[in-house]
Amino acid sequence: MFVGLEGVVNVYDAATAIGTGRFETAELDSLTRSIFEALVEDPNAFGLGERINEFYAAIQRRRPIEALRQKCRMDSPDAIAVDLRGNVMTCQNTGAKGVHKICHVANFDAIALDTAPHFALREECVSCPVVQLCKRSCMFLAGEIFKQSCATEFAFNMGILMAAVWYLTGMVVVGVATGHSV
Ligand code: SF4
Repeated sequence: MFVGLEGVVNVYDAATAIGTGRFETAELDSLTRSIFEALVEDPNAFGLGERINEFYAAIQRRRPIEALRQKCRMDSPDAIAVDLRGNVMTCQNTGAKGVHKICHVANFDAIALDTAPHFALREECVSCPVVQLCKRSCMFLAGEIFKQSCATEFAFNMGILMAAVWYLTGMVVVGVATGHSV
């Protein structure tokens, strides 16, 4: 049986901030090392080989950040999340009772995803070395929960980036000149 790994748990609310989405610094370091070592051992560990290849393709074609879609692809023009009452929401992980109700299918032409900024507008993501892999975590996060999710996404995706560099050069990344540390 093949089991794929989507990524790490994002922080969506107060509960995940202190629960499944909470990682100490040492745990984040360990996550990076574990992903890197697993991919060195097996280039398709956890089904992540495809992401290494996508990273290479992004470099080869100089893919600009503006050309990236969110990793969930809910910002794609051909994707909408709809509940059984026809409410259109930011994504399937939100609900139609709060700010994430963006329209109704009865008013189809007016559907517009205006509850999340593109990550090309986010200062942190623009200068982030793993943005081609991460694609800005979850698109509607902001403030402290975004920062917490960003830290876990960075740790996870840095393990993939390190493996990509290792397969290209045989070298181990020991540091990256950004606000993040490896
Ligand atoms: S790790 Fe953080 S800064 Fe980098 S792309 Fe992801 S969300 Fe943006």
